[in-house]
Amino acid sequence: MTQIKVVKNILDANNRIAIENRKLFDEKNIFVINLMSSPGAGKTSFLMKTIPELKKKYKVGVIEGDIQNTYDAEQISKLNVPVVQINTGGACHIDGNMVKEALPDLPLDEIDILIVENVGNLVCPAEFNIGEDLKIMMLSVTEGDDKPLKYPLMFHVSNAMIINKIDLLPYIDFNMEKAINDALKINQKLSIFKVSCKTGEGLSDFINWLYEKI
Ligand code: MG
Ligand code: ZN
Repeated sequence: MTQIKVVKNILDANNRIAIENRKLFDEKNIFVINLMSSPGAGKTSFLMKTIPELKKKYKVGVIEGDIQNTYDAEQISKLNVPVVQINTGGACHIDGNMVKEALPDLPLDEIDILIVENVGNLVCPAEFNIGEDLKIMMLSVTEGDDKPLKYPLMFHVSNAMIINKIDLLPYIDFNMEKAINDALKINQKLSIFKVSCKTGEGLSDFINWLYEKI
């Protein structure tokens, strides 16, 4: 029982900070996306493809979360958008406080859309609110169609599921219908996009959907 209480206290404290972040984002008129997936699903590649498109209409900023190193942040900075790296120092998710501490390093008055690339992990990022407007999760077809049933919370809390690497479908056994049906059983409101960050297929559908949300 004690352990359950500790976890609950951590999440309560996190939610309070997430609400503070939310207030600041509202004041600054910043739309915030929490992008989550397993390691290697293609979050950074997705941002490399979509940010140039988003930049045509909006000023974009990025927070990159990784356990260590700045590799992804270096990639993103090539797009000439402000980017801050959070190194979680071992923690397998980004929490509200990490975002709060990163915000002073971003030019908030010059950002319309802030994208937070979470640490690659389908488990605890789903539990930690950061004050975001949208939670978007990415599932790559190479991970298998069983992920909705294995990690239901991630699918439950997300607004959208982006199924990535569809260019690889001819080479692997991924049951698209099962993955989508299982995800929708967990979350009927989930918006679903099938994309390939390699070929660019499907990305414009996602961007059009996002523009309606902002
Ligand atoms: Mg990445
Ligand atoms: Zn974690």
